Amino acid sequence: MTAASVRAEDTNVFPRLLDLAYPNVECGDGVRLYLTDGREILDACSGGAMVACLGHGMREIVEAGAAQAEKLAYVYNHHFTNEPQERLAERLLEVAAPEMARVRFVSGGSEANETMLRLARQYHVDRGDTERWRVVSPAQAYHGATMGTLALTGRHGLQHPFEEYLAPHLHVPPSTERLDPSGAAALEELDRIVAEVGSETITAFVCEPVSAAALPGYSPPDSFWHGLAERRERYGFLVCFDEIVTGMGRTGSWFAYQRLPIEPDVVSAGKGLGAGYFPLAAVLCRQHVYDALAEGSREFEHGHTWDGAPLPCAIGIAVLDQLVERGLVDHVRERGPSLREELEAAIGELGLVVEVRGRGFLLGVELVDPRDGESLLPTELHTAELVDQVAFEHGVLVTSSHSTPDGYTGDQTLLAPAYTSSDEELARMIELFAESLVDVERRVKDALA
Ligand code: PMP
Repeated sequence: MTAASVRAEDTNVFPRLLDLAYPNVECGDGVRLYLTDGREILDACSGGAMVACLGHGMREIVEAGAAQAEKLAYVYNHHFTNEPQERLAERLLEVAAPEMARVRFVSGGSEANETMLRLARQYHVDRGDTERWRVVSPAQAYHGATMGTLALTGRHGLQHPFEEYLAPHLHVPPSTERLDPSGAAALEELDRIVAEVGSETITAFVCEPVSAAALPGYSPPDSFWHGLAERRERYGFLVCFDEIVTGMGRTGSWFAYQRLPIEPDVVSAGKGLGAGYFPLAAVLCRQHVYDALAEGSREFEHGHTWDGAPLPCAIGIAVLDQLVERGLVDHVRERGPSLREELEAAIGELGLVVEVRGRGFLLGVELVDPRDGESLLPTELHTAELVDQVAFEHGVLVTSSHSTPDGYTGDQTLLAPAYTSSDEELARMIELFAESLVDVERRVKDALA
């Protein structure tokens, strides 16, 4: 008999949390997940990691993948290029990122951000700026699980006990509503860092244009982006945007940078690019970045086994086609503001909720101590985990993060439904989530009494 949920002692899999019983999912259809015990879960987070932006089981994608697998699933990028890779690169630049000039495909977000780091360094080396190696990034961030990308966050909770493996990159405080609403403190700290280590040692400023899990739905005000653009000119570093989550329409434009007053030199995309039908991510760069290598070493020595393989790229083309044919990016842009208002109307009055924010179909809810509506919740309550668990019991999948121990922000929850969700499904997600938060608030108040 298939287990309804699986504990570490009952499986050969090495799970993340050894004390958690993982619900066992059998299949998915649209925004519904069906568990092996017959329960149905409404997926308000695109599979949990903001990936399945077209929902589960979309026939057109499955058929495109099957057809390509039959024709040619894999060849190595060091030896060949292939039609799906060439077509996807062309389509991406034409449709989604006309500001960019070149694309490199990889399999996942961490790989893409590693690639971005290597490209930024290679750009400077090929221009003769060999001293540049340091990266500056906001501390409250997540850019990946590899040792290179883990060094880009300033969250010690994520880095421990691997600190010895991590490059000593530098961080500015996150420009959140609470800490630095104008972004002025982050820019001041950037200036201080540059004065201390020298602009000639900085390769790049890396950040998400609109944060996902680290600060759901948050983006600093325009003054911060103007200030960053001005410092790029002054100090000569590259601006690299991690759009692993926000790329491919999540915030209502193909890339989030397209609605900000700054254009990155390099940008990564992931999650929605393969939409959960195959691992696929990418790094895109502007012409001057490519030119530095073209006029320099003429080599970008980097690569993973699955880079640009035919099967993932064919999936990427099919996803892009669906996004275009169904007008989903426009839909996310048009529907996003009312979705946020509906969420706010449903939970905004709760003492546990201090802010509902977001862009497009990337929504964030920040939680606080309901006794004063302002302080962070005590760390030991693990409210983020409680929210996910209670929401699941109510039949809706959301993703929360327990950032309190890092000191920059409180517990927060992220909702990132598929772009294909119907109005009824979105309304039901909000309803179930609101019921869950009422339940969580009651439990939190009991624990605090
Ligand atoms: N950057 C961001 C903003 C992410 O949210 C993630 C994954 N959650 C990553 C990078 C890493 O992607 P992956 O897990 O595919 O390596």
